Amino acid sequence: MLARMRFLAGLLLLTTPLTGPSTVVQGWDSSPVYVDPTQRALVPDEEAQRLAERVEAQDQSIRIAVVPAASLATTGTREQAARAYVDQVVDLQREDGVYLVVFGGAIVWGSAVGVDTPIAEILTDELGKHSRSDPVGTLNGVLDQLDVPKADDGGFPIWLLVLVVVAVAGGLGLWWWKRRPGKDEGPALYRPSYDVLPDEADTLEERQALAREDVTRFGEELDAADVRLDGVDTSADVQAAMDAYADAGRVVDAEPTDEQLRSVRDTVEYGRWRLACAQALVAGTPKPARRALCFFDSSHGTSVTDWMYTPPGGKAREVPVCAACQARLSGGTR
Ligand SMILES: [Zn+2]
Repeated sequence: MLARMRFLAGLLLLTTPLTGPSTVVQGWDSSPVYVDPTQRALVPDEEAQRLAERVEAQDQSIRIAVVPAASLATTGTREQAARAYVDQVVDLQREDGVYLVVFGGAIVWGSAVGVDTPIAEILTDELGKHSRSDPVGTLNGVLDQLDVPKADDGGFPIWLLVLVVVAVAGGLGLWWWKRRPGKDEGPALYRPSYDVLPDEADTLEERQALAREDVTRFGEELDAADVRLDGVDTSADVQAAMDAYADAGRVVDAEPTDEQLRSVRDTVEYGRWRLACAQALVAGTPKPARRALCFFDSSHGTSVTDWMYTPPGGKAREVPVCAACQARLSGGTR
């Protein structure tokens, strides 16, 4: 009887980890830096706040979590457990960007999703400079290497800032004017995954209808895909694809704006990719790449979005671009 109860207790511990990936993702709703209440000695509130201020000022999405080391699964190596945990977090958050998770004093794991960031190298470098009991130093070091400006700590004299702003403003205005995107340029509007004539997506109503059709087609693909196979675990990929379908369906059933339609396009694209990953698992082939390489230079790496671009002497068309090229084309400062 006692043995049985102990077994049950063990089972409960396994099924309710201290801080699961869903807790982290929920925490990110209110701040990009989530610190589990048990980890405040490691990352105090004011340090978490300072990290959040640094991260929030960024165009690219950076998410940080500090969770107890006991959140790691006990099967496999610590690295495997950390990787699996971060993969789950990424699946739930479903957003391109850089993810950093500190597992107490045990291990720090990073993941760059859909962005061209050598996060493994950067983390290894910073972990070599800071002790395990100094995750704040490690995280700030990583942000430094990601070129994230330091939070304003009030040490910079305001009068100097005003002088610089006044001096720069004139030139910057002119620069912005010159670089302002033309009428045919900007983030690509909704285009379905199937071929349509350019004038079939002229109005918002037409784009909404195309998106609804696209989501319906994706649903049919999910129904038709036979991704169950004994001995191959495709459940995570299939579930992610179905979640993407459900999310996209909710948006197109309302009256989505162009901004929301762009996110539908990303969601459906992500869902199709996860479905393709499941099919690759069953077929025993490598998982497909998430997105095309940057149109401007393949050495920039994977694209993060599509952009309307008019080549010199050519017609405006959509091209896949990396984060840096997106910033350049949108006239951003980075
Ligand atoms: Zn690029």
